[in-house]
Amino acid sequence: MSEAKKIDGKLAAARVLEKVRHDVAELKAEGLAPCLAVVLVGDDPASHVYVRNKVQRAEEVGIRSIEHRLPADTEQVTLLALIERMNADPAINGILVQMPLPPQIDEASVIQAIRPDKDVDGFHKENVGGLVLGQNVLTPCTPTGCLYLLEQALGDLSGKHAVVIGRSNIVGKPMASLLLQAHCSVTLVHSRSKDAAALCRQADIVVAAVGRPRMVGADWIKPGAVVIDVGINRIEENGRARLVGDVDYDAVLPQVSAITPVPGGVGPMTIAFLMRNTVLATRLQNPLAA
Ligand code: NAD
Repeated sequence: MSEAKKIDGKLAAARVLEKVRHDVAELKAEGLAPCLAVVLVGDDPASHVYVRNKVQRAEEVGIRSIEHRLPADTEQVTLLALIERMNADPAINGILVQMPLPPQIDEASVIQAIRPDKDVDGFHKENVGGLVLGQNVLTPCTPTGCLYLLEQALGDLSGKHAVVIGRSNIVGKPMASLLLQAHCSVTLVHSRSKDAAALCRQADIVVAAVGRPRMVGADWIKPGAVVIDVGINRIEENGRARLVGDVDYDAVLPQVSAITPVPGGVGPMTIAFLMRNTVLATRLQNPLAA
């Protein structure tokens, strides 16, 4: 019973990647070879793992990847010059600069330097604005993956009340825009909200993106709600290191109709949608092909 409620992110991501593989083959048949450039500045071990995973996944679906590894003391002008070259290179379709960047580099300036139609993270102002206006733009990978999982679980989302917990630029805010576009009524709950649990209890859909282990308990959830847990929190429990989400999974399970586990829920969707965005970017840059 409880297994049936679990939304399997690995399976969903595999399905998205299968479609991407098919689309990549189609693009290649038209003479277009999608290419993703990934830039890593410095020695952050977690960033190295993320970049390795992204490059590996790209290879698996037939997307060419280029890696630029720059030293931790790289000047901002050097990084901006590299982005400028990649913006102008027709062989590069997607540009991803792995965050966080070292302190001498202003992340916002770097994001704005990427050509919007190569911005596979969907963070450029033009893409953020386009998302709010409901235009066909590149949208951030994690919330787009969450929307996919919700549509798989619920079908049409029209008229559902969605509560998004967290208002970051990379998850919470774009998630709210995507749900609004899917015709939900959307409430954003954040650190200054009064009685977050009471707001959340009204929701048909809860998306938690906070970064606080097991903050969302059983008394936050309406019976039958669908819960998407974006949080990834490393904790120590019974002398063991483990990953948990923002939702107290075991406590809410009896009440929900479906829920993503951590790990194995939202996590795998992010890379899958990065690959999908690379395909979309290739199409955006070559509107006359096909
Ligand atoms: P962030 O720190 O930028 O934003 C956290 C948000 O939570 C803020 O908007 C803040 O207002 C809100 N918040 C803080 N305390 C709160 C409280 N007590 N009640 C309600 N809201 C509160 O974080 P982020 O980048 O959006 O990431 C959120 C979580 O999602 C993190 O655990 C992160 O690791 C995870 N994450 C996972 C993926 C993935 O691929 N699965 C991708 C991005 C982020």
